[in-house]
Amino acid sequence: MDKLSLRELPVAGKNVLMRVDFNVPLDNDLTIQDPTRILAALPSIKYVLEQGGALILMSHLGRPRGVVYTDLSLKPCAHALSALLSKKVIMAPDTCGEEVEDLKEKLKPGEVLLLENLRFHRGEENPDETLSFSKSLAKNADFYVNEAFACSHRHHASITEVPKLFPGKAAGGFLLEKEVTFLSKALTNPDRPFYAIIGGAKISTKMGEIHALLEKVDALLIGGGMAYTFLKARGKAIGKSLYEADFLGQAIEILEKASQRKIPLLLPLDTLGTKVLSEDAKIEIFDTEKGIADDYQGLDIGPKTIKYFCEFIQNAKTVLWNGPMGVYEFTPFANGTKHLAESLKGLKATTIVGGGDSIAALNELDLASSMTHVSTGGGATLEFIEYGTLPGIEALSLKESVNSKQK
Ligand code: AMP
Repeated sequence: MDKLSLRELPVAGKNVLMRVDFNVPLDNDLTIQDPTRILAALPSIKYVLEQGGALILMSHLGRPRGVVYTDLSLKPCAHALSALLSKKVIMAPDTCGEEVEDLKEKLKPGEVLLLENLRFHRGEENPDETLSFSKSLAKNADFYVNEAFACSHRHHASITEVPKLFPGKAAGGFLLEKEVTFLSKALTNPDRPFYAIIGGAKISTKMGEIHALLEKVDALLIGGGMAYTFLKARGKAIGKSLYEADFLGQAIEILEKASQRKIPLLLPLDTLGTKVLSEDAKIEIFDTEKGIADDYQGLDIGPKTIKYFCEFIQNAKTVLWNGPMGVYEFTPFANGTKHLAESLKGLKATTIVGGGDSIAALNELDLASSMTHVSTGGGATLEFIEYGTLPGIEALSLKESVNSKQK
């Protein structure tokens, strides 16, 4: 990464303002259901403290849209972090204001202050309207660190505006660096053959990603709900399967582009269909060439496709996977996703998985640790694949800015 790294900041005795992603799922008792996001930021947090720096952490939680909701307070995260670090985490009463500025000023090396939910203020999501919000976040801090890759596609104060107030002193955290390193390598200089497997519900949300990947991959494998719009584009009957009529033209364009570039674009050979989606659904297997019956909906790739896809990727050196192959939340339609994940586990290749649902599926199958890299970003990963960077990464200082100052 050509951006400044946390490792290059002389943080001893300084206040480090770090944007983390503590947007954790909470249950009705405000208990954290899954602490993965807090755990993901721990290496950067511990590093600053071990180096003798003090930390000011900031994050959003949920979507309060400028209103204070007590059930969206970051207090449960302060408790969880305190237990993980075995030290006190000071919970700020707000994100800005005199009292918070005072707390920041009095921070001692090794201490941690967590600011309240950034989105309690309108200024976070509307940075152009309220520049004073960014300035107040930046006050009494010496360095800025972005350790929230999953939020870095947002044009929000803590992501794109605050780092600009730290010229030559805004760096990427360890997790952000890892995300950028893996994704950039796959997109710019992958070990080949490089295959992308795209699934999930809708073609509309992944159009940009598919277009970008067609420029880079050696083959594209498409499953999930979006496959039916492509099958329709090839003139096949798809019954009641998910179909986005507005994107038929783009699906045709992608099929043509792949064929012109001689890039194999693999679509399902067969599909598991049912009339009613349920845990005990009556399943019919349809050959996609012959078409799906009018009153059936395709909800997973079928056994022939599983074999076809899994055999095809055996010689891969890099695989990027985004989106489940079927409605994996229902046991009868989880097989495609499950077999594909198991097949990826067995490859001697760099395997990169991105997108919330593919990760949830991997976690459910207990296979996340078998992948080379599981990206923490949903929308951020998709945008990174499309554009090769993100606004939050662009806002960081260049490496040279520190080196040239030290000369
Ligand atoms: P995405 O967020 O776009 O990756 O989509 C994930 C969702 O796609 C999951 O909730 C799956 O249940 C859904 N999905 C996968 N395959 C299908 C399908 N054949 N029909 C409808 N939804 C699907």
